[in-house]
Amino acid sequence: MQFNINNLIRENVKAMKPYSSARDEYVSDGSKMLFLDANENPFYNGVNRYPDPQQRNLKQVISEQKNISPSQLLLGNGSDEVLDLLFRAFCEPKKDNVLTLPPTYGMYTVLANLNEVEERKTELLPNFQPNVKAILDKATPNSKLLFICSPNNPTGNLISSESIKNLLINFNGLVVIDEAYIDFSNQESWISELDNYPNLIVTQTLSKAYGLAGIRLGLCFASAEIIAVLNKIKPPYNVNELTQQKALERVLDTKSVENEIASILAERTVLIAALKNIAFVETIYLSEANFILAKVDNATKRYNQLLDQGIVIRNRTTQVLCENTLRFTIGTPEENKLLIHALKSL
Ligand SMILES: *Cc1c(COP(=O)(O)O)cnc(C)c1O
Repeated sequence: MQFNINNLIRENVKAMKPYSSARDEYVSDGSKMLFLDANENPFYNGVNRYPDPQQRNLKQVISEQKNISPSQLLLGNGSDEVLDLLFRAFCEPKKDNVLTLPPTYGMYTVLANLNEVEERKTELLPNFQPNVKAILDKATPNSKLLFICSPNNPTGNLISSESIKNLLINFNGLVVIDEAYIDFSNQESWISELDNYPNLIVTQTLSKAYGLAGIRLGLCFASAEIIAVLNKIKPPYNVNELTQQKALERVLDTKSVENEIASILAERTVLIAALKNIAFVETIYLSEANFILAKVDNATKRYNQLLDQGIVIRNRTTQVLCENTLRFTIGTPEENKLLIHALKSL
């Protein structure tokens, strides 16, 4: 079937005209102008002006690094905003549905509920890979989005390229690959496949490897057609000035980011080795992310014991396929030492 994005866009979104802000209507070419168009306070303090609604400087740098056109990139207030925009652009409440693959990131469920969109779940197989046939069987003509988290949270593994290709080809909606943890993995991003699959959307974030969870910056990569739809409905000033400045500084400082990732990966190896020697740890799952999922004898008991020692980890025991599992985020070398010491003391 020929892919046509117009078959997936909500009717109200198709009919909408985007809000045109003052900063959209007059784009500065750098020449000295008096800006008396946006009802701002004129006294300079660094942030008295509205931010660039299209984040041109930041997008220019990121799109060069990722080898795409700026028209294939949308930035959001965290990737959570980007994911919400996808629901609002493509999913008709109470009519359309989305496909998810638990155990996975909890926000897909929250956003489906918030937007009154049915979530059709297909559990991963016991090896945490997707059951492609079961997923496609669950799809209906109203299935608009399929969320694939790779590396997956909380399990830590990559989803196999073969399964993803199969889903990209055979699912008639949009395939959203959430790559929040891709910078910790050896695998190349799916961004390089954008030109081959018109229904591919890739999301990334500066919250994990880039160390900027506090500024809220999410990235969405897709065809220019899909990005244009999202641009039409995004709040005009969704990425604030401080965030744009801080993000630009950080993405240009590739050395620091690389060094921190290298440290986290080295500490991941240290923690895995230590967990292997802890008697109550039964399984350590392979991780391509900055956390490790491990199955223990009694997750709630071990979780509480660590809390008593002032260490907060994530108890994932209530998630499907994750009974008695704990998720450990990789900290600094010092924090990792304290965690390992505490684990040995239990
Ligand atoms: C942490 C995380 C995100 C990050 O979301 P932000 O809103 O960008 O902080 C997205 N997806 C997954 C799977 C995550 O674990």
